[in-house]
Amino acid sequence: MREIQVPVISTIEEKCKRCYSCIRECPAKAIKVENGQAKVIESRCLGCGHCVIVCSQGAKAVLDGTDHVLAMLAEHETIAMLAPSFAAAFMDNRPEQVIGAVRACGFARVVEVAFGADLINKAYFRLVNDKDDGDETVKKPIIASSCPALANYIEKYMPELLPNLAPIVSPMVAMGRVVHKYYGKEVKIVFIGPCSAKKVEFVDDEVKDAVDEVLTFTELEAILLRKNVDIHTVEASTFDPPRAYLGRVYPLSGGLLRSAGLPADVMNSDMVVTEGKARVLNLVESLKNEQVDAKMIDILFCEGCISGPFMNHDINYFTRKQKVVRYTDEGRLTSDYPSWRKAIEECADVNVYRRFHSERVTLNEPSQADIRAILARIDKHDVSDELNCGACGYPTCRDYARAVYQNLAENDMCLPYLIDKKERMQRQLQDSLDALAETQQQLIQHEKLASIGQLAAGMAHEVNNPLGSIMLYAHLVKKRLQENDPSQDDIKFIMDEAKRCQTIVSGLLNFSRQGQLSLVRQHISSVIDKTIKAIRQQPLFRAIDIRSFVDDDVPEMVLDADQLYQVFLNLAVNAAEAMPDGGTLTIRAKIEMDRLTIYFEDTGIGIAKENVAKLFTPFYTTKQIGKGTGLGLAIAYGIIKMHKGSIRVLDSQLGKGTIFIIDLPILMDESAVDSNGGLSV
Ligand code: ADP
Ligand code: MG
Repeated sequence: MREIQVPVISTIEEKCKRCYSCIRECPAKAIKVENGQAKVIESRCLGCGHCVIVCSQGAKAVLDGTDHVLAMLAEHETIAMLAPSFAAAFMDNRPEQVIGAVRACGFARVVEVAFGADLINKAYFRLVNDKDDGDETVKKPIIASSCPALANYIEKYMPELLPNLAPIVSPMVAMGRVVHKYYGKEVKIVFIGPCSAKKVEFVDDEVKDAVDEVLTFTELEAILLRKNVDIHTVEASTFDPPRAYLGRVYPLSGGLLRSAGLPADVMNSDMVVTEGKARVLNLVESLKNEQVDAKMIDILFCEGCISGPFMNHDINYFTRKQKVVRYTDEGRLTSDYPSWRKAIEECADVNVYRRFHSERVTLNEPSQADIRAILARIDKHDVSDELNCGACGYPTCRDYARAVYQNLAENDMCLPYLIDKKERMQRQLQDSLDALAETQQQLIQHEKLASIGQLAAGMAHEVNNPLGSIMLYAHLVKKRLQENDPSQDDIKFIMDEAKRCQTIVSGLLNFSRQGQLSLVRQHISSVIDKTIKAIRQQPLFRAIDIRSFVDDDVPEMVLDADQLYQVFLNLAVNAAEAMPDGGTLTIRAKIEMDRLTIYFEDTGIGIAKENVAKLFTPFYTTKQIGKGTGLGLAIAYGIIKMHKGSIRVLDSQLGKGTIFIIDLPILMDESAVDSNGGLSV
């Protein structure tokens, strides 16, 4: 076929919304998705227009011939040829009104394409019956070639079947040549019908002498509008000669056989009639494999031309069919058979033969390994992952993978994969947000504790000296007093209270990390064991079941055993105090993410959410005066910080219990100690 300068079907990019319906509908794999846009590949397109009908967004456009026709009307004697399906395209109007309206647009004459159909019928009859001048080189079964979409399909995708394709022109071409014979070589001819593939056909080198432009019925309506022609009020008219006879049923499936006088009943397997894209493709495939035993096959890509893309699809198929049948019958009743016969004989010299040529277009076929690799990219690793949902426009996941390999499809067209990916990303985002919020919370908490620490340290230093003096002088006074002096008790009280203050001060210093670590290489289990041994003795732990688990892979490491013992003791005492009626305290040590983690889990009263952030603040306590100082966790915090570790509540539920978690860096020798006696990690 001749190179088409402008694509017959194209995509209006801003309207394409990635629904992939056109891919599903295209019989020729002529749609390529690029940057999310479903574009028509010109060299593969049949011009059948199925993608135009199926696109709900109106994103597929057909090459518009209206301007060209209006220019022709202005400058030349132009003749319109109406395809017989016009009777069904303009449902509300009688055929005569449509003819009158076309004439009113300025066409010099209006003729019926159906006469062209009548003319080629003889050629078909001969071909099928191998008679007279019938071309006996044509292979059986003969495939009718009047449907341009089908002829295109065979030329491009199944040239093996070219020998079967009837070397006969379509009714449009035959009629174009008849019009030239009747009305002269100079007249311009416009074919008007329901089919966009005709726009590909009429520019073919083999037949380009016949017709000057092809309009769809939709474009005809646009011309009526631009010419201000009201089809309802315009003067009715009839066709110019030559008039058609049975050829008017051509647009119905089986119409060719019927009008060519070939037996088309269901019992005759010599003549196969089929229609519709899916069945056509199926039949063509069977023909290629020589599985069809018939003389002649009449195939139409649409369900008859009356279902062509540019028909009025709001009206049901049977009503449309009825309209064409009625129009044919009327023609038969009113036509003048002898004049028709005469016209057919007069046109015996009109060339109704043509050739078809291979226009084979191929695509590279992927290997199984290629397909698997592409499927793996969309998380389809075995057959059970292949949903074959069709959302991408391809019937199976493998067809889709093949299209990706052939550069027809893009990687992100798999809907289930995209949904999974989106959910995964959303989850990851949520996790990151949660982690961020927690880190932020911890940061605020640390900063708060750091500033309290500074205050506490300053105060502790200041208080420490006077405390020391109090102790010293109390001691001196005590020494000076007689053993039995009544003031001895008072002095002892002063000394005890001063000692208590010293403990508090040292706690505060611990909290504010002002202490020194004395690091020794040891196993954490020895510290845990020492803690358990100490608490087991205490009445507070009488009703408490104490368990401890230390994983085998926990190594020895450098640590300040005395200070960690103090931390563990504080945590254990808190746990016991949270379980006044007994319960279980579980201590676990394990290696997680290259750090030593130690869990203290109790089955106690739990901590209210709003209090969790306050726990490590010095003097925060919920216990009665005299029972709790609120320094236990503050001290633990300071000691763990000095070890470059962290301590926090992992989980706590009211009435169920609390888990504290400590994590520490694993350090193997004392070289990790910095000049302040802390750890340099
Ligand atoms: P204290 O024990 O003297 O009150 P801490 O600093 O040791 O001070 O603890 C502060 C507060 O944290 C406690 O008063 C208590 O409210 C809460 N707390 C600590 N550990 C636990 C736990 N295991 N279960 C419930 N509450 C706890
Ligand atoms: Mg405590």
